[in-house]
Amino acid sequence: MERYVKERYELAAQTLSKKLERRNFEVIICQNLEEAKQKALSMIALDKTVGFGGSITIEKSGLIEALYQRNQQLIDREKTETLEERHRVMKKALTADYFLTSINGISEDGQLVNVDSVGNRVAALTYGPDKVVAFVSMRKVYGDVDTTLEMVRKNTAPLNAHRLGLEKTPCIKKGNCGDCLQSECICNTIAITRRSMTKNRIAIFLILEDIGL
Ligand code: SF4
Repeated sequence: MERYVKERYELAAQTLSKKLERRNFEVIICQNLEEAKQKALSMIALDKTVGFGGSITIEKSGLIEALYQRNQQLIDREKTETLEERHRVMKKALTADYFLTSINGISEDGQLVNVDSVGNRVAALTYGPDKVVAFVSMRKVYGDVDTTLEMVRKNTAPLNAHRLGLEKTPCIKKGNCGDCLQSECICNTIAITRRSMTKNRIAIFLILEDIGL
């Protein structure tokens, strides 16, 4: 990454962190994904359970492998064999001590914007786990909340649809979101988290790198 991009991200992260803290979010600024992983590992107590939703950023960080290596108790839907078991494990993850996730977009005034398919990710962000560890690249800070929502719907969601290999939705056929209501649709819940009721329950790891969709 160019030096001037990093400098800009650094300044913007300092500004954004104050806005996020006013909304009761904890903020950890990280130079890169590796630093985010190490800081998350030291935040998570060894004797606690950890659940997670689908997140490329979390996957790429290697955090889940590192937790397995130190024998953390993980609630892992990827280890299941049937759809029924997968849903049971996803429900269990909603009561984990910690939940790992990423955020689709953050507005410049510090609101979290997420579009979810099943809804387990935004459910855990909203209520359940005692602590949420959320990784997000500074590239995902888009502007006001309407602009952020627009970017997430027009850009992130269609990219996710392609990543997941959907077949029939407008974003697959034409490349752009068609605000579909099809059975394959992955944009079923749109959630804006304005504030955390419990101070520091949601820890936002602001990463000064271009990562994620
Ligand atoms: S076309 Fe449907 S699945 Fe694709 S991004 Fe839009 S709402 Fe989501």
